[in-house]
Amino acid sequence: MKILVVGGAGYIGSHMVKHLGLAGCAVTTLDNLSGGHADAVLHGTFVQGDIADRALLDRLLAEGRFDAVMHFASFIQVGESVVAPAKYYQNNVVNTLNLLDAMVAAGVKRFIFSSTAAIFGEPQSDTIDEQHRQQPINPYGRTKLMVEQALADYDRAYGLKSVCLRYFNAAGADPAGELGERHDPETHLIPLVLQAASGRRSHISVFGRDYDTPDGTCIRDYVHINDLCQAHWLALQSLMGGAGSQAYNLGNGSGFSVQEVIDTARQVTGREIPVVYAERRAGDPARLVADSRAATSQLGWKPQFAALETLIEHAWAWEQKRAVQL
Ligand code: UDP
Repeated sequence: MKILVVGGAGYIGSHMVKHLGLAGCAVTTLDNLSGGHADAVLHGTFVQGDIADRALLDRLLAEGRFDAVMHFASFIQVGESVVAPAKYYQNNVVNTLNLLDAMVAAGVKRFIFSSTAAIFGEPQSDTIDEQHRQQPINPYGRTKLMVEQALADYDRAYGLKSVCLRYFNAAGADPAGELGERHDPETHLIPLVLQAASGRRSHISVFGRDYDTPDGTCIRDYVHINDLCQAHWLALQSLMGGAGSQAYNLGNGSGFSVQEVIDTARQVTGREIPVVYAERRAGDPARLVADSRAATSQLGWKPQFAALETLIEHAWAWEQKRAVQL
């Protein structure tokens, strides 16, 4: 199979490129390196470029004769999306439509889209399934929902088949230790906790301990990056098998509090990890946990690295490697 991975130099995209490579696919990665790293692309051909560049897309799609496109290239910071919405609407919506239009023109009809739990907004139930109300509370979530809605229209009008995968909290690292999370600035809990463990950071700030949860800190559903890659792989098989457009919520189905993450990281690393309790972060719901039964029953997806310890072990191995390199 020939796959174009857009944003394949970033955190999730680079793990996906490796996954596809191991599965025997021919992969082309397109990435503008605004957040990604060329040396994280471990397989196939790398093209530095932007999905805003229609001429480049037309050329790549004509030459590549791809079976499918996977799209990981978007801006992901909720807080930044509130103060700089134009950047988010331009890249995450306008440039994505540019990519879809180039696909339609080139006759590439299968698309896998990185979506997010943020399309749902404030949770209305303990776990969030695909039928949950979609009412995002920040521009980031709105940009992802807009693309999901456009995809439904593009299917009806142009026959473009897509699978939208809504990640809850993507975390962990390549179990073989070749890849991991390298955001700059890093904003995600687990890498920040581990940077505090390795001494690259003085402490971890806990954003709020007065939530309506057992220990007062926010609960999230952390899902291992390799399990996410496996879900993409199964989604691709499903599209290749002729299935129609779909959308799935991807998580482990069990939530962990910020405090539990820190406690587990202390066990795994054997380090102290200084904590500072800080104010709540704007826009953080108390609890976000996925109901992923649809992905299990329809795609046959079953997370292999569901234990928080395993996820943190893999992320810790990566952090130790990084701490030495930097
Ligand atoms: N969090 C925290 N301190 C940090 C970063 C994150 O307490 O330095 C909390 C954050 O408020 C949320 C959880 O950890 O409840 C996960 O945040 P992250 O940014 O990793 O992912 P998000 O849930 O925003 O997608």
